[in-house]
Amino acid sequence: MRILIVEDDKDLNAQLVEALTDAGYVVDKAYDGEEGHFLGDTEPYDAVILDIGLPLMDGISILENWRRDGRKMPVLLLTARDRWSEKVAGIDAGADDYVTKPFHVEEVLARIRALIRRSAGIASSEIEWGALRLDTKQSKVTVDGAVIKLTSHEFRLLSYLLHHQGKVISRTELVEHLYDQDFDRDSNTIEVFVGRLRKKLKLDIIETVRGMGYRIQAMNDAA
Ligand code: CA
Repeated sequence: MRILIVEDDKDLNAQLVEALTDAGYVVDKAYDGEEGHFLGDTEPYDAVILDIGLPLMDGISILENWRRDGRKMPVLLLTARDRWSEKVAGIDAGADDYVTKPFHVEEVLARIRALIRRSAGIASSEIEWGALRLDTKQSKVTVDGAVIKLTSHEFRLLSYLLHHQGKVISRTELVEHLYDQDFDRDSNTIEVFVGRLRKKLKLDIIETVRGMGYRIQAMNDAA
């Protein structure tokens, strides 16, 4: 899962980057409105954290632009305290949720998890697939109750596929959602990660769709 943070307060930006990275997300960051708008317009994100008060372009305008251009990723707004009119404007502009400053980073993390789940149509913070259970809160995977140790890349890959059950996901899409913009992207590495995941999980869960990508069958459809 790949997240964009647009926040001009350098300390706060760094704090969010650290917390989200620790939680297993890939994170891109921007410090002003123009850069943030550009990244959200050109890169695929699973969620965006967007400050309202930004230099060069404000958060509400950015959001209006994205929505007008058909960008549908979930957006969490950061608003100043006691600015109820900002919250209303933000939600009207297409925000999915907001957090009021100052906030606890844990609250942002919980809201981001919920936004990503909701956009994938998943109600619970734990995703079950047969004997496998993925806990989005603790970034933990178990099979038949036994914890499977995964690297952050492996976890992200499995989590992305599980959030998009039933859909064939191309290697390009995986690369775009599993690495940040500075990563040397090589779609062959995806194959390596899939191989390692299969070995660790010992489950027939990730299907290769020849010439197209990978799929985890939707649980309802799986026999
Ligand atoms: Ca600001």
